[in-house]
Amino acid sequence: MFMSIIHLLPEHVANQIAAGEVIQRPASVVKELMENSIDAGATFVQLNLKDAGKTLIQVVDDGDGMTPEDAVKCFQRHATSKLKSADDLFQLQTKGFRGEALASIASIAHVSMRTKKDGVDTGTLIEVEGNAIKTNEQIVCSKGTSFEVKNLFYNVPARRNFLKSEGIEFGHIRDEFERVALAHPDIKFSLHHNGQEIYQLQAGVLRMRVASIFGRNSNERLVPLEEQTNIVSIKGFLGKPDAAKKTRGEQFFFVNHRFFKDSYFHHAISKAFEGMISEKHFPSYCIYLEVDPAKIDVNIHPTKTEIKFEEDRFIYSILLSSVRQALGKYNIFPTLDFETETSFDVPSSFRKTEPVEPQINVDPSFNPFQTQKFSNGSSGNGFTKALKNEGFGQAMPSPSEWEQFYHIEESSPVQQTSNSESLDFENEASHGNYLIHDRYVFSPTKSGLLVIDVKRAKWRILYDELIGKFIHQALDSQQLLFPIEKHVSNVEIDLWSNHEKLLQQLGFHCTINGTMLSIHGVPSVLPENSIDSCIDSLLADLQNRDIDQGDVAHYLVRRLTQNAAKDAQVRGTAEAQALVESLFQCEEHALAPNGKKVMHTVSLVDISSNF
Ligand code: ADP
Ligand code: MG
Repeated sequence: MFMSIIHLLPEHVANQIAAGEVIQRPASVVKELMENSIDAGATFVQLNLKDAGKTLIQVVDDGDGMTPEDAVKCFQRHATSKLKSADDLFQLQTKGFRGEALASIASIAHVSMRTKKDGVDTGTLIEVEGNAIKTNEQIVCSKGTSFEVKNLFYNVPARRNFLKSEGIEFGHIRDEFERVALAHPDIKFSLHHNGQEIYQLQAGVLRMRVASIFGRNSNERLVPLEEQTNIVSIKGFLGKPDAAKKTRGEQFFFVNHRFFKDSYFHHAISKAFEGMISEKHFPSYCIYLEVDPAKIDVNIHPTKTEIKFEEDRFIYSILLSSVRQALGKYNIFPTLDFETETSFDVPSSFRKTEPVEPQINVDPSFNPFQTQKFSNGSSGNGFTKALKNEGFGQAMPSPSEWEQFYHIEESSPVQQTSNSESLDFENEASHGNYLIHDRYVFSPTKSGLLVIDVKRAKWRILYDELIGKFIHQALDSQQLLFPIEKHVSNVEIDLWSNHEKLLQQLGFHCTINGTMLSIHGVPSVLPENSIDSCIDSLLADLQNRDIDQGDVAHYLVRRLTQNAAKDAQVRGTAEAQALVESLFQCEEHALAPNGKKVMHTVSLVDISSNF
């Protein structure tokens, strides 16, 4: 009776509809074409525009090119060389994979393409209009692919009218260009608009690329960032806090060479900058993450720049702590700019020589109390060398005993803690005069009697040792022969599983069974009789709303080491001496991680006033 009213849309209509999703403005075409060039292994990508792309977008690359057959196929919908099976989706190394971009662009613009593979004589010229191939010829051209996209949205007037002013559309294009260029410092790029050169970027090291995009004189305000963990590796550059801008802008995240936006991670960076820049300013950063492609989901939407991370909480805390650490290093040396300036306005005659990134080895873990660093005298570490090169102070002495470092303390520009205890301690403690009583070690000094709290000293030592390690790798874990079972609440189970990665990094390995934690691995530093109380206090910390998400890692390490040091004891003077030596190697040796005093001097004046 009734006729079928459902029919399939003609191919070109389907493509136009799809195009509406993928291609919203000229900048979308730029992004798709540039990404195709990168996927094709180009070493040089040129972008030329007329009228902010409304009249012409040309992308020329020296990549792999296409065979005559593929040159036709590439304009079909779902035509891709990058994905063969659904499994490939989870190991993506390429930018594209949908095979939609060219079909979409061809349905809403006039496209001509020249392409040639290496080692063959002739290339192919294809011209497409309204998805129909108008020209298919053999031509002479060089290796690679060149696209010309003209009259964008000529057949979609609503879209064309919707385009913003040339300035705004060009701004969007520039954003896309910069993102692609920042993601690939090893590729050469150029950008011309209406015949004017906007960018000419040489292939080179990351720092140079970031500085070229961040603009004039930006090199000197970049602070390097680098962190390796088993889940994510992080590198990049931060703008120095004093160069922060009032406008948003220089904020870039990349994961596996792909730009993305992420307000959660942005929060981590802002938090790390807290107190260093005013609330009206924005931090600048260009941060590159590398993670296992199977652990991210980029397949949310073709044009969206959001990415889902499986380990987002973990990455958040690592970002926060590594940015803090990088800024901290910079703050310790505010007046010494170790990064030699490089001017990128090089005369054109030098342009062909590859610039080399300045290499200066500042030792981030430099600690003036650490003996081994100086033990071989003048060769020293990066920091001593830098000091000498900069003409600060004299060459460092090479004492072999830790005690002598108190002489250096006053002149050392990095030593921030000044406490009279350590200065007083210098002369006599080294004679091995230790008395151990209850939880204290006593040692006479020039001006009185130094008292050290053994548990707090041990806590400080363990904390300093483990916090540095924790950021980079999982702490040593000891497998238990017989798992410990622990009943906890529903809330606590949720807390545990929400923070499982961090807890594993800490050394805890558990399986969860209902509300039972079955613990089969514990941090090696933790004595067996402290496991239970340690877990309780960790759970309490995780529940504590006053602890910021980003600080969780620090709290956990603090709690772990506190429990590990709970029963610390020294037996005999040799142990006392070892403890004191390790303590004085900690930068903040006067205070425990909770800010309480580790040591106290009872002065001779105090003593005599009692007589
Ligand atoms: P996708 O990038 O998702 O595969 P596209 O529609 O962007 O889909 O491109 C389709 C195919 O055309 C690609 O898979 C690739 O094989 C080929 N191609 C596109 N651009 C280039 C280029 N610049 N150089 C070489 N091959 C290209
Ligand atoms: Mg593509």
